[in-house]
Amino acid sequence: MSYRVGVPRSLAYYSFFPLWNSFFEELGCEVLVSRESNKGVLDDGVKETVNDACVPIKLYHGHVKDLKHKVDYLFVPRLVSLDGKETTCPKFLGLPDMVKHSIKDLPPLIDLRLDLRKGKFELWKFFKRLGEKLGKSTWEVFKAYVKSKKIYYRHQKLLEKKASPELAWKIIKGEKSEEELNKMVAENPVKIALLGYPYTIYDPYISVDLLDKCKKMSVDVLTVENIPGKELLRQKKKLSKEMFWYYSNNTIRACLYLLEKKMVDGVIHVTAFGCGPDAMVDKFLEIECKNQGNIPFMTVAIDEHTGDAGMSTRLEAFVDMLNRKRGFK
Ligand code: SF4
Repeated sequence: MSYRVGVPRSLAYYSFFPLWNSFFEELGCEVLVSRESNKGVLDDGVKETVNDACVPIKLYHGHVKDLKHKVDYLFVPRLVSLDGKETTCPKFLGLPDMVKHSIKDLPPLIDLRLDLRKGKFELWKFFKRLGEKLGKSTWEVFKAYVKSKKIYYRHQKLLEKKASPELAWKIIKGEKSEEELNKMVAENPVKIALLGYPYTIYDPYISVDLLDKCKKMSVDVLTVENIPGKELLRQKKKLSKEMFWYYSNNTIRACLYLLEKKMVDGVIHVTAFGCGPDAMVDKFLEIECKNQGNIPFMTVAIDEHTGDAGMSTRLEAFVDMLNRKRGFK
């Protein structure tokens, strides 16, 4: 039987959608992604979530609500460790429980646990359990697993070439070509690191389209996802003490890498209102920017009321200052 599986367009969607989508499709499922974030989706999420949740978690609830009457299964995995070392933040860990207890009339949730700290075959075991849930044989699941991993690695490579997750996915599907990506990657003199979690940076609604705004101002932007995983890992040695959380550590390591290589003129940290880890990440990035050459640093905090006009004004002032510093104005 072929199932319709719903994937909320939020949180780990921005890191792993190609892997999940390819796996489900290879097993004959139809994958339905929630619509793009907008005020309605966020308002729905805010109504369903506890008050002290961060904005991305609230938004996620809105995406779940968008899908709940349209699918046979909702894919809300419990992502514990994604690299075999650190865990995701506590809100990520409790996501399936939060969703189950906050939203009524849900279809069955696929909330399998993924904890790569348990050994190198854990990813395979996760997909095997997932395939079994969908009634597939081990051989069918294995073929789907191998194919989806290949697609995931290709997606990672495209991110390193500065494609956004959406564009990289379109290239894989053949809707865009890699040549188009090469043409799009401009070489502007002023370069900014736009650092934060992929689900805030790449969601045009909650980030108030910061990525696009930077491009329109002829500024080159580098994100965590543009840096090869092994380079991020190398930065680990520089820190006497790390944080516990996967996405937070990646953000800090990306900043250290870009500062070490002198690749950026300024750093913008996009932080989500209600995010516990970000209080520390933000201070850390600010201190590193100061210590490593007094690199201009700006924090942009986003919440459900963040306005477009205010954000544009702050960004323009920051870019103006970088241009003046480089002697372009
Ligand atoms: S890291 Fe912060 S923004 Fe991300 S889910 Fe956890 S609390 Fe929310």
